[in-house]
Amino acid sequence: MRMYDIIMKKRNGGELSKEEIRFFIEKYTAGEIPDYQVSALMMAIYFQKMTEAETFELTMAMAESGEMLDLSGIHGIKVDKHSTGGVGDKTSLALTPMVAACGLPVAKMSGRGLGHTGGTIDKLESFPGFSTALTTEQFMENVNRIGIAIMGQTADLAPADKKLYALRDVTATVDNLSLIASSIMSKKLASGADAIVLDVKTGSGAFMKKEEDAFALAEEMVKIGRSAGRTMSALVTDMDQPLGNAVGNSLEVVEAIHTLQGKGPADFTELVYALGSEMLVAGKKANTLEEAKDMLIKVVREGKALDKLAEFVAAQGGDKRAVYDTSLLPEAKESVEILAPQEGYVSKIICDEIGSCCLMLGGGRETKESDIDLSVGFILHKKVCDYVHAGESLATMYYNDKAKADAAKERFLKAYAFSATKPMPQPFIKGKV
Ligand code: URA
Repeated sequence: MRMYDIIMKKRNGGELSKEEIRFFIEKYTAGEIPDYQVSALMMAIYFQKMTEAETFELTMAMAESGEMLDLSGIHGIKVDKHSTGGVGDKTSLALTPMVAACGLPVAKMSGRGLGHTGGTIDKLESFPGFSTALTTEQFMENVNRIGIAIMGQTADLAPADKKLYALRDVTATVDNLSLIASSIMSKKLASGADAIVLDVKTGSGAFMKKEEDAFALAEEMVKIGRSAGRTMSALVTDMDQPLGNAVGNSLEVVEAIHTLQGKGPADFTELVYALGSEMLVAGKKANTLEEAKDMLIKVVREGKALDKLAEFVAAQGGDKRAVYDTSLLPEAKESVEILAPQEGYVSKIICDEIGSCCLMLGGGRETKESDIDLSVGFILHKKVCDYVHAGESLATMYYNDKAKADAAKERFLKAYAFSATKPMPQPFIKGKV
């Protein structure tokens, strides 16, 4: 088999066989096929697309390029959740302790973030001492003992995807539906869960700007998971403005804590209960979504969800006092109100611009090596459809560097648009696959 022939077949619109896909993934991971040939193939796939069968084979080949985690040592049905990400997405921080408090084992692998804010691991590191550097044995032991553990992705988790994603990133071949679906699902399948609940975002802060594309991605990922024998469901949810009110690592941790106390913002709370309900049903802890939601509300009301977060933080070396006293989390030295330049209804917030403002303050990583400032970010006081008077606060900005803050504030104001009439409120959850 020759890579040249595989590239030409795809360039001409042919369907690659399982053997051809396995060949290029295995040889590329082993360093036996150069980047330029795989770049050419990615571009051919970008234009010619892949069939369902090809997408499934690519997913499995990438998943099996490294270790397939065996979670059979953990009792019960293991349910994982994946979000395609966006601005202010702190879902795992509130969702995982909530479902664990309902008795569902949570064994989750998470990543660090590149971009607007950190990923789940960075956010969790707001708890002084917290570490996700667990061995697989410690990870399993914690899940069996307290019902929850989150570890960093091991280097051997879908290494083919790691290489390919980095290559796609610099060759303008990321935004192809089959390539995104196979990339995400290869890591999820290799992480070993029996059931997977997906949160596919749509809007100005999401990969999939258009709702129809988000549904298509959700359907593709659900099909892949089911073909691999996993229980799957997906929600398509709004990312046309930041999720909740907090954007920035430790600020998002505080918002997740408020949500575990039943005091979270409406959109974020709706999302966490909806995803949590899907997870509890998939894990057979509840028979219906309504029953599952009642269970979640109960563990929040009784304080068990918050206590589960504290138990989890302590089990991974963190200071659990910070769960009950958030002044122990990283705090920025300065804050300032960003005032509305005019009155009217907020008609739009360009979501990824708010993310970029957080990055400018130092709250995200521009490169893998960058340091991240966990304390900076924004608390939004006005979101789409809210009325604002001129001079009223749109948001509080938390910062440590005045020059960065001045530039971020200017950009922040440009992300907001206003109208004289109230925009039509849009549903937060767009649908289910
Ligand atoms: N996230 C991934 O892991 N892979 C993609 O291709 C896009 C988003």
